[in-house]
Amino acid sequence: MTATPRIAIIGAGLAGLAAATQLVKSGRDVTVYEARDRVGGRVWSETITAAGAQHVIERGAEFVLNGYTTLRSYCSEHGLELVDTGMSYYIRKPGDSPEVTLEDMALLGKQAATAAASGQGTRSVADVLDEIGAAGPVRDALESRIEVSTAVRVDQVTAEETLDHVASVEPGPSWRIGGGNQSLPKAMARELGDRIRFRTKVEAIAQADDKVIVSTGIESEVYDYAVVALPFGVLNYSETLGIDLPDWKREAMTRVVQGNAAKLHLALDEIPATSAVMSVADRFWSWTAVASGGVVAPVLNCFGGELGHLEKLHVDVNGNEWETRVRGLRSDLSVAHTAAVLTAWPFDPLAKGAYTAHAPGFSAQDAEALAAPHGRLFFAGEYIDPEFTGLMEGALRSGDRAAQALISISEGIPA
Ligand SMILES: Cc1cc2nc3c(=O)[nH]c(=O)nc-3n(C[C@H](O)[C@H](O)[C@H](O)COP(=O)(O)OP(=O)(O)OC[C@H]3O[C@@H](n4cnc5c(N)ncnc54)[C@H](O)[C@@H]3O)c2cc1C
Repeated sequence: MTATPRIAIIGAGLAGLAAATQLVKSGRDVTVYEARDRVGGRVWSETITAAGAQHVIERGAEFVLNGYTTLRSYCSEHGLELVDTGMSYYIRKPGDSPEVTLEDMALLGKQAATAAASGQGTRSVADVLDEIGAAGPVRDALESRIEVSTAVRVDQVTAEETLDHVASVEPGPSWRIGGGNQSLPKAMARELGDRIRFRTKVEAIAQADDKVIVSTGIESEVYDYAVVALPFGVLNYSETLGIDLPDWKREAMTRVVQGNAAKLHLALDEIPATSAVMSVADRFWSWTAVASGGVVAPVLNCFGGELGHLEKLHVDVNGNEWETRVRGLRSDLSVAHTAAVLTAWPFDPLAKGAYTAHAPGFSAQDAEALAAPHGRLFFAGEYIDPEFTGLMEGALRSGDRAAQALISISEGIPA
């Protein structure tokens, strides 16, 4: 082995960038491979013209939630501020079910969370709702709230984590990074400089003779270690990526569920009030929120979850059906007649989905197996962090953790 180990990082999303940052800080020789022409992966900020001005939209990750200590610390390292959205990510009025109140949903959500907490982690959300006798429009509204946020069906996700975290019905504040969430990966990338190779898609990662061989289809390069920071969907799909994963890791991966979500952004003609309204029937929600500068942006943000419903909204074709439904649900707003911006993550070959959740039966051992290295390969990504699975915070924590494990092992210290 060379005196300074050469390390390849595959993927320049938050997980890969966090791993690269920590490894560079500890003096390692790092090369980051990124297939896109930008950093950030599923954190992707752009602008839309609305009411005569440009406004930032988040085509991927939007909300910074409670407990994001790692994200906050990276932001302060790079002088980035968080902006309060002035609304709560957690509370969404069921716009097409006027008979269901937010109080009804919160009450049922709490009952379900209490029942879920008494279990062994083997039941789905649907199982728990059945057990407590939940039925009718309130159950449907709660299921919609949960399916939209987890981006999978309620019979596919574990009840414990889901009901008290991502799909919580407790009001709580939510923030965004001022100027756009992608300001963070961009700032991290600036520090890494020309260590990042853009438009360089990795096709195979192999191990031989105490080395890692990273192949792009055009060339192969040899490293001492690699951090695989690819989306779960890409890693799990062997047709597009040649990588030998051990059976114990593949086995844990069978209890990870791939969530599928899409976003739609529409310009408004006027500045609205903050709002959060969901369509129970179509499994999407829509919101207006405060942007940098303390004013509500004239933009209607929409997020739809769960593949079956996304296909009914024609998200795989052009999203026109979704736009029609949004205009119907939000007739309280003055939606402009300009083109909407659709972002369909399930059909993005470099993401193959939105983010992950855990299936019933997912265990602490599974979490360890997902995070554990395999030979000279280390792993990072939102799907690995057990506490903040699916989220920006989880991606950053997993990258920090992979770097720490690699540093310990390469120095001969037990990880
Ligand atoms: C619609 C949507 C809404 C979301 N909302 C929120 C939210 O409100 N709050 C929150 O905290 N999180 C949210 N998330 C989740 C958040 O975006 C992710 O958890 C996080 O960004 C994942 O980071 P990552 O580094 O694990 O993966 P990614 O960001 O996907 O990074 C992986 C990188 O690998 C690259 N890549 C893929 N294949 C290859 C290859 N073969 N070779 C080289 N490079 C490759 C990709 O281009 C990408 O840049 C949302 C996600 C989506 C899609």
